[in-house]
Amino acid sequence: MVMQLAGNSVSNAIALGTATVIPRDHIHINQTRLSTDQVSAETSRYKAAVEKAKQQLIDISNTIPEDTPADIYSFIDTHLLMLGDPTLYEAPAQIIEQELCNAEWALQQQHDILLRVFEEIDDPYLQTRRDDIAHVVNRIQRVLIGETSLTDIVGDKDFSTQIIVIDDLSPAEIISIHQRGVAGFITEFGGPLSHSAILAHSLRIPAIIGAHGARHLLQPGESVVIDGEKRSVIASPCKRTKAWYRNKAREYKRRKNALASLRDEPAITLDKQLITLQANVELPEDIRAAKKAGCAGIGLLRTEYLYMNREQLPSEEEQFNAYRNIVRRMKGAPVTIRTLDLGADKQVDSGRSDMPLPSNPALGLRAVRLCLQDQSLFHAQLRAILRASAYGPIRIMIPMISTVNEIRQVRTHIQTVQAALRRERIRFDENIPLGTMIEVPAAAIAANLFAEYCDFMSIGTNDLIQYTLAIDRVDDAVNYLYDPMHPAILALIKMTLDAGKKAGIHVSMCGEMAGDTRFTRLLLGLGLTEFSMQASSLLEVKSIVRETSIETLSRPVRKILYSKDSARTYDLLHDINTRSM
Ligand code: PEP
Ligand code: MG
Repeated sequence: MVMQLAGNSVSNAIALGTATVIPRDHIHINQTRLSTDQVSAETSRYKAAVEKAKQQLIDISNTIPEDTPADIYSFIDTHLLMLGDPTLYEAPAQIIEQELCNAEWALQQQHDILLRVFEEIDDPYLQTRRDDIAHVVNRIQRVLIGETSLTDIVGDKDFSTQIIVIDDLSPAEIISIHQRGVAGFITEFGGPLSHSAILAHSLRIPAIIGAHGARHLLQPGESVVIDGEKRSVIASPCKRTKAWYRNKAREYKRRKNALASLRDEPAITLDKQLITLQANVELPEDIRAAKKAGCAGIGLLRTEYLYMNREQLPSEEEQFNAYRNIVRRMKGAPVTIRTLDLGADKQVDSGRSDMPLPSNPALGLRAVRLCLQDQSLFHAQLRAILRASAYGPIRIMIPMISTVNEIRQVRTHIQTVQAALRRERIRFDENIPLGTMIEVPAAAIAANLFAEYCDFMSIGTNDLIQYTLAIDRVDDAVNYLYDPMHPAILALIKMTLDAGKKAGIHVSMCGEMAGDTRFTRLLLGLGLTEFSMQASSLLEVKSIVRETSIETLSRPVRKILYSKDSARTYDLLHDINTRSM
């Protein structure tokens, strides 16, 4: 029976294959009470399981071909580091001793503790790092219960015609199945921002993640198509559908190969408008891929990575070194450093334990609000950024701005820090640009006003969509409402672009929408000239830019802006994406 299943895709890639359903299930953990003389053997059993989990990862890592980009190794290295961390190596052993319980139960307790810490972090990217902990914990649990690892299940078999259907996949497992040439995979769980999704994207594996019920709905041996563009899985397609997708997959592959040659070509439209394509960087490891894709700079450096997984805040010196390294590596290309975008987490919360936890963290004391409350936290970061600005072009960008007063206050803080640096005879860029992210609807509506107080603006569509449509961006249950084409979103983007134009300041976009090729022409037609995105999308966006004439877009884009019906809006989008210019 032909059937369609929806999920999230990691790219527009297409795959055709036969379903291999892996019936791996959630692990049920039972609590067993130990006698004191059993404790030592149990802690040893636990530690041996961690060592075995480590060895599994090392084995996978050893099979990665030498010419593989370093970023791929880093996914396994992160998990290896976690396995050696006291929170996973020592703490469960202590729980075994204190609570006289079995290793599986102790690990489960520790996992819950770690999850609670993550729940307090109001940043969707960092929240998705929960997946990493879950993957590592799962690996240990599976060793403890003596389950065969996925690497062993798949063995040395050639998977080039197979589409794996499974509960969830860790980055290491993705590398394993990639080495067996898997045609694609479908998972029931996992988010589009997880490391697994990012890795599948960079390995160019067609995948649908979060397709609930896939393991029950798809039959082993059934013919399956992954349509990344439509974010769906088609089961038992008819002959004609298969032929159509085969053609499309060939075309997709041909296009991907041609993209590499665009690296050093300018991002210029057919009507000669130069477009700036920059990269979003979440970890320093991302810079390699950004440069490889020929980015014109970093349009968003998420600095949260410096503050995570540690007891103490990073010192000014540590931050300065990190920013200076990045600026140096970018060799004169601009680096936009976004100041801390954290919510309430334990490091940043230190000294505030008397404050109640926010009941709605997304609307609470996060990002710039937190920085304005905690001067020493903010000044250390501003000093580090300003000091690094002596080594190359840096722009400061502030997240979650919702009032002009916040921009004024930020400027005052910057001036105070600059005055101190001058007194200390420390060099910095006196003209460092200050930008605001437009990610709260109020900021977009008042963009005309905000534009008078800053040097540039950058539209953060991830949060702008979340706040405008009132949907939690990390909640699977309301994912279906996440629509960049909602008329309210398009209107807010247009307002921001018009405001920037009127004030004569640059406006860029650094939310996921900027790297989604379905929207490239639409955004160009709305007047966007600066895009910042994941490096893996950059060449594809560049190729569309080079095949677009902006002049011819004004009428159809106006039609989209004023369209009254969602289905028609998507038809119009399809028209502008398929028209020849
Ligand atoms: C955004 O909100 O669009 C954005 C780029 O910031 P983040 O995803 O880091 O919240
Ligand atoms: Mg944001």
